[in-house]
Amino acid sequence: MTSQVVSFQRRHLPDLRILSTEELDLPERTLPTMAVWWSVPTGLLGDAGLTDESVPGALHAAEHASIGLLPLLATCDRWDLGGVSTALHVDTERATVFVYDGLAGGAGFAERGYHLGATWLRATRDAIRSCPCPDGCPACVQSPKCGNYNNPLDKHGALRLLDAVLALAPPD
Ligand SMILES: [Zn+2]
Ligand SMILES: [Zn+2]
Repeated sequence: MTSQVVSFQRRHLPDLRILSTEELDLPERTLPTMAVWWSVPTGLLGDAGLTDESVPGALHAAEHASIGLLPLLATCDRWDLGGVSTALHVDTERATVFVYDGLAGGAGFAERGYHLGATWLRATRDAIRSCPCPDGCPACVQSPKCGNYNNPLDKHGALRLLDAVLALAPPD
């Protein structure tokens, strides 16, 4: 996992209003770790009613929610996990969501997610669906540690995406 901090936001307290976004010039950092991923064939994205414009927000929202959920199924904290989602990954050649261990060398959490498989995604889908917020909140699809300022995020798209994926998944 290679990451690079390119900017930060200054926010007003207590309302977190954005005061400014500051550019940074920092080197890349590389973390050798373990990840679990799931990918979605293009046809299934269409079945879920997602367009090229809505796919990134749906994947990103599903990624955040799955990271928030994994600590309930594996003994870890969401701060032990990182994630990346992309509408087209060069290696999988599909829309893909990665969740990786934040500890160098891996800590077994991503592997636990792999073994949980559809159970994990089902719990993620149910958590999003049962959240009463209209368009996403910190309890469902927003992440306190997002590297992209929680943008784009599409709660309803994530729900349709996970429904489409889980319709083809094995039962618990
Ligand atoms: Zn919510
Ligand atoms: Zn994010």
